[in-house]
Amino acid sequence: MKKLIAITTLSVFSTVFLIFSIFVFSATTNSSPSRFLKLSPISVEAISDSQDDSITSEVYSSTPSISEIPVTPSYTVEPDKVVYITIDDGPNPITSPLYIEALKAANVKATFFMIGKQMNEYPDIVREMVSGGNVIGNHSYSHNYSSVYRSVYSLDAEITKTNDIINEIVGKQPKIFRAPGGSLNLIKRDGLEEEISKLGYVYFDWNVSAADTDRNYNSKEKVISNIKTQSKGRKRVVALMHDNGRKASVEALPEIIQWFKDNGYEFGTLNENIRPEHFR
Ligand SMILES: [Zn+2]
Repeated sequence: MKKLIAITTLSVFSTVFLIFSIFVFSATTNSSPSRFLKLSPISVEAISDSQDDSITSEVYSSTPSISEIPVTPSYTVEPDKVVYITIDDGPNPITSPLYIEALKAANVKATFFMIGKQMNEYPDIVREMVSGGNVIGNHSYSHNYSSVYRSVYSLDAEITKTNDIINEIVGKQPKIFRAPGGSLNLIKRDGLEEEISKLGYVYFDWNVSAADTDRNYNSKEKVISNIKTQSKGRKRVVALMHDNGRKASVEALPEIIQWFKDNGYEFGTLNENIRPEHFR
C-alpha cells in the first residue's frame, strides 16, 4: 500500500512537473516570436536609417566628381548668325578715318586690334573710334615678331605697355588680344600662350580673312570676294581686315557689310566674354 502511494505521488508529481514544464516552454516559445516581432520594426527602422545614411553618404561621396566636370566658361549668348568685323594694325592716318566713316554710315561697330606704338602717335584717332562705339583690342606694342615672341618677359612688356597706352588715351583697359600674325606664333614658344591668360587676356584669331596683306592683294573686288567666299556656310564669322594705309579693304567695307546684312547676320564686337576663335 505504501508502495502504491509512493508510486502515485511520484506520478502525480511527475505529471505536475511535466505540465509545468510544457507551460513554461510554451510561454517561452510564445513570447519569443512576439518579442521578435516587437523588436523587428525598430530594427527595420534602424536598417532604413542606416540605408538612408549610406545613400546620403553615397551622394556625398559622389559630389567631388562634380568638380571634376570641366567648367564651361559662361560665354555671351550670340545671335544665330553673327559677324565680328576685326580691323588690325591701326591706327593709320590714311585709312582709319575712312573706316570710322564707313562704319558710322552703316551703323555698324567693329573691333580694332591696334598697335601700341601707333596709338601713341595718333591718340585722337583712337578716341574717335571709341566715341563711335567701336571696341579696341591689344595687338602688341611693336608688332615686331622678334620682339613680341622673344620671351614671356618680352610678350608681357609688349602687352602691358600697350594696355597702359590705351588706358591713358581712353581710360579703358581691354582684355582682348590678337597675336601679331595669329596665335600660331604664340604656341611656338613655351609659356607664351599661358602668359596671355595670366595677364587676364583672351586672345582671338579669325576664321575669315580679307587676305589684304597678301602680295597679290590689289583690289576692292578681291577683298569682297575673299570675305564672301570664306563666310559662306558659316554662322559665326570673325573677319580679319587691315587698317594699314592701303585703301582697297576700307573701300570694300560698305559692300561687305551689306552682304552680311542681306544674309541675316548681326554685327558684334569682341570682348573677353565672347567665345574665343582659335586656330586650333
Ligand atoms: Zn597685325
